[in-house]
Amino acid sequence: MAEPKKKPLPREDKLPAEPSLASTPLADLLPREQLEQLSTLQLVDLITSKLPPRHASIFDMVYLRERIAAQEEMTDQARAALEKMDAIIEKLRSPAFRVGTFLMPVDKDKAHVCLGGTDYVCRVDPAIPLASLQAGQRVLCNEAFAVVQGLGFDRNGPIVRVDELLSDGRLRIGQEAGLTNFVIQRSALLAKEKMKSGMEVRLDVNQRVALEIIGVGKRVERALETVSELPWSAIGGQDEAVRAIRDAIELPFLHRDLFKKFEHSVPKGFLLHGPPGCGKTLLGKATAYNLRQQIKTQTGVDHPEFFLQVKGPEILNMWVGESERQVRDLFAQCRERAKDGALAFLFIDEAESILGTRRSGRFNSILSTLVPMFCTEMDGIEPLTNVVVILASNRADLIDPAILRPGRIDRKIRVRRPDQAGAQAIYEIYLRDSLPLAEPKADLARAVTEAHFARTPDNEFAEVNFRSGRRELLCRGDLASGAIIAAVVERAKSLAIRRAIETQADTQLTRADLLTALRLEHDENDLFPATDLTEDWLKLTDFDPENVVKLGPVRVRKAERSGVV
Ligand code: ADP
Repeated sequence: MAEPKKKPLPREDKLPAEPSLASTPLADLLPREQLEQLSTLQLVDLITSKLPPRHASIFDMVYLRERIAAQEEMTDQARAALEKMDAIIEKLRSPAFRVGTFLMPVDKDKAHVCLGGTDYVCRVDPAIPLASLQAGQRVLCNEAFAVVQGLGFDRNGPIVRVDELLSDGRLRIGQEAGLTNFVIQRSALLAKEKMKSGMEVRLDVNQRVALEIIGVGKRVERALETVSELPWSAIGGQDEAVRAIRDAIELPFLHRDLFKKFEHSVPKGFLLHGPPGCGKTLLGKATAYNLRQQIKTQTGVDHPEFFLQVKGPEILNMWVGESERQVRDLFAQCRERAKDGALAFLFIDEAESILGTRRSGRFNSILSTLVPMFCTEMDGIEPLTNVVVILASNRADLIDPAILRPGRIDRKIRVRRPDQAGAQAIYEIYLRDSLPLAEPKADLARAVTEAHFARTPDNEFAEVNFRSGRRELLCRGDLASGAIIAAVVERAKSLAIRRAIETQADTQLTRADLLTALRLEHDENDLFPATDLTEDWLKLTDFDPENVVKLGPVRVRKAERSGVV
């Protein structure tokens, strides 16, 4: 935009030199001080006005005036450009503004602001109405820490979980790294928001104000509110484990007074250890189901069960503090439900992955904080009134001994692979009378169990090479499990169904279906490791890893022998 043309200013450098002025008629026209006030152009105009009309120099004076006017305009423009530049340089040289979080007004011209984690009471530029600033919004502060501009709300910031709503609307949040909790205020954005504990909120970068609700919180929601009907009789071949569980949990619950009288310690939980697929999870669920039933029959009071099931590796999280948060949350959920009268069970499968000895490894740093934290949570549990913790693992040897100390998980219950009698019992459980069976279920079960446990070359399944040089062949029966048996029966059912569809006839589940299913289940198995790695196969057995050099499927050995590999 063109600047309005200024009246040329008087300038000293444009005035004629003093001696010449004194000798000109100009000195007679105006006093010297006034002359000095005049610009060159004004002087020219003055001189011209004093020339007699049609004087020969008038044209020269007009020419001179134009030249001077043009020059003065150029000088003005250059000065304006320089001034602009000076202003820009000045701005660029001035220090950066600080960005703070406005917390609340203090006086009518002061504000409580948090800047870089430190609190200040700052003056507020009178041009900014204090009422226009909202709790949680960002403000610009100058070098003197005065608020000079209001900005919007932070778009970024840490996310935390709300632990508790305080009566005045402030929020208590869980400190993620296992340190103390702290209290924050809500921003103007959340002032009227309905909030609940467990929600996740985003804080401003100074971590003083909750700005936004991010979600209802990623609780490890794996609860089976109620366990489906699971009487002890639905578990086959685990009589010893069932008895141990009933002694450890059912008796103290049902005979509290006796246990108190004899001052007999009551466990807060137990560890189920044994190979995969043998019913550890099933036993955990059955504990919850049967305890509820027992209490109901004995006392007439029905305490619904709350069964929170989680796999250890699901808890492992690369974010510092996240795994701890999840574990604390699991206990908190169980306690909450127990307070409401539920029988709360916390079932942690593959427990060695989070509660393992602090051996060196990828998750070493997580384990080093998880184990002590888990112990603290365990120590806070009141037996019988609170939560029953059940750990399941197929590598109990890896679980940190601190977890298994008296007063914590001090009952270790072994879940073995079913022997032949146990396997037959499990077959009988799955070959229910209600199914269309071609023979009495006991006969079918016996036949398929005998085939499963036969020590024939066809049944050879894995080979162990011990450090001593001894070799041992494992047959299918040696690696039998409830999971395999359940899968064999399911497969036999689908064979019978397919036959029914193909033949359009009324078919029944036969002995042949079961035997075919048994073979297919081992050939196309999903239940054994897909690799030949000894480490993977060792998990299936009870052998001491120290004593075993190699353990793998027999198919490799057979192939090697026939020259295929
Ligand atoms: P684990 O927890 O030891 O790995 P699970 O309890 O998950 O094993 O067993 C997997 C499935 O195998 C169960 O859901 C059940 O169908 C079957 N199963 C395992 N063991 C038994 C058993 N002893 N009696 C009946 N069914 C079993």
